[in-house]
Formats: sequence, C-alpha cells, structure tokens
Amino acid sequence: MDDLPLDMPAFEPGWVWLTGAGPGDAGLLTVLGLHGLRHADVVVYDALVGQGVLRLARPGAALEYAGKRGGKPSPSQADISHRLVQLAGEGKRVLRLKGGDPFVFGRGGEEALALARAGVPFRIVPGVTAGIGGLAYAGIPVTHRGINTAVTFVTGHDAHGKLPESVDWSVLAASPVLVFYMALKNLDRIAARLLAAGRQPTTPVAIISNATLARQKLVETTLGGCVLEARRRQVGPPAVIVVGEVVRLHAILDWWRGAAETAAESGVAELPVAVGG
Ligand code: SAH
Repeated sequence: MDDLPLDMPAFEPGWVWLTGAGPGDAGLLTVLGLHGLRHADVVVYDALVGQGVLRLARPGAALEYAGKRGGKPSPSQADISHRLVQLAGEGKRVLRLKGGDPFVFGRGGEEALALARAGVPFRIVPGVTAGIGGLAYAGIPVTHRGINTAVTFVTGHDAHGKLPESVDWSVLAASPVLVFYMALKNLDRIAARLLAAGRQPTTPVAIISNATLARQKLVETTLGGCVLEARRRQVGPPAVIVVGEVVRLHAILDWWRGAAETAAESGVAELPVAVGG
C-alpha cells in the first residue's frame, strides 16, 4: 500500500472518514478506502459490509458493529451519529464503513450532516454502489447505447419499510431503466404500480442477490412474472432489481458464469447492440 506511487491524504486523529465498502467483493474497495482502513483506529461498520473488506482493517484497529444483531433493534441513526462524534472527540481516527457508496441510500448524508453540525472534520470516500457494481457482475450495462439514455435509481421502501409515498409511479414507469434497492419485500406492489402505469408485463427484469459475492444469484424474469419467480427461486436479500431492456444483455455478457455457452443459446441477434463510432 505505502509502496504505491500515490499521494494519499493523511488520516488525522479526530477525523471521520465516511467510506464506501463497495457491494461485497473486497477487490471493489477503492484504494483510498483501503488506505483509510490501514490507518484507522476504529472502524464502525454496517451489516452489508463484506467480511473480506473488514479483514483489510489495520491489525489492532477496533471493529464496532453498528447494525442489527440477534433480533435486537438496530441502533438508531442518532445513536450512530452520536457515537461517531464521540469517538472523534476522543482523538480517534474513525472510519465509518458502509456498504456500497455512503451517499446512495445509505444515510451517509445524515451522518455527514451530524458531523458537520458537531464541528467534526470528515472526508467522504465514495464506493462502488450495488446498483452499478452489482449489475456489472451480472453482465448488465447500466446504460447501453441504443437502449437507454437515462437510468433511475429507486428505493423500494421508506424509513418505515413502506413503499415510498412521494414516488410518482407514472413518471417512474416512463424511465427506460429502473434499478431498485431494498425492493424485495415490496416487489409485488412495485410490479403492480409499474404495470398499472403502463409498463408492459413482458418488460425484462433481473433480480441480483448477493451481487459480487461468491453466492451471487441472478434471476432473469419479466415484470409480469417477477413476483412468482422471486418466490419460486427463493431469492433473499440483499438484492437489486433491474427493470428494462438492458437486462437482455445479460444473456451475452454473463462473464460471471461463463458467457460463451449462454450466448450461443440465446437470441442474441435480436439485441439492440450499438456498434461503430
Ligand atoms: N449504500 C448502498 C445501499 C444501501 S441500501 C450502496 O450504495 O450499494 C441496501 C440495499 O443495497 C439492499 O437492500 C440492496 O438493494 C442493495 N445491496 C447492497 N449490497 C448488495 C449486494 N451485494 N447485492 C445486491 N444488492 C445489494
């Protein structure tokens, strides 16, 4: 690490580095994130942080879990923010490690606000978000020329586990590609709303669970069939759900399982693959 020809910022005592761990595969941690982990005194981590990433922490660093454990309620956001302020106040180098990217559906903004209000100096270290990295590992381009010029990231539940009320489903349904986070539990309602808003039942859907980890699983289905298929295939969290034509590229680009044989059997010729300059 220290032998790399890179100028890395010093991790000063009393600072909090709000860091994205990536979707799971430890190799997807950024170099800056690794640098932070190598110098932190204490690592405060969430449930979705991969074990492989945690193992990269400096030997001797304290590891504090800030998620749900053994049926006990998870600490509140206020508790976690308070803890970060407290540790920084003790002069620790605090690495706050969150799954994916800290500013994508990860409440990183709330924690950063609490630090700012408390006058604690902090740095944001972005990470590979599940809705991009997870798709890459499934061989699904988030955007693909000839298919979509926009992509929409959506959360499938609000702070209370309900379908977010503020969502305008007719606007959402018009987005060529939708990537849902935290959506497994409300998938029936989500699919119903998108169908009611005019999206075709044949629209391709991919459900990618445990993306980028050895137990990654992909279920390719359709908007009309996804609820039954998710149940039949017993898909569990964490999962991202992709809705849109880009899902069809998985048949050719599934490098994870070996693209060759799947590409040969699928109707690849029909896919709108843009070529040329
Ligand atoms: N900050 C995170 C998202 C946290 S919300 C990020 O940028 O990725 C938690 C949701 O992220 C999960 O419900 C799931 O939708 C998604 N997620 C996180 N890790 C995942 C993984 N390895 N595979 C699939 N989905 C994942």
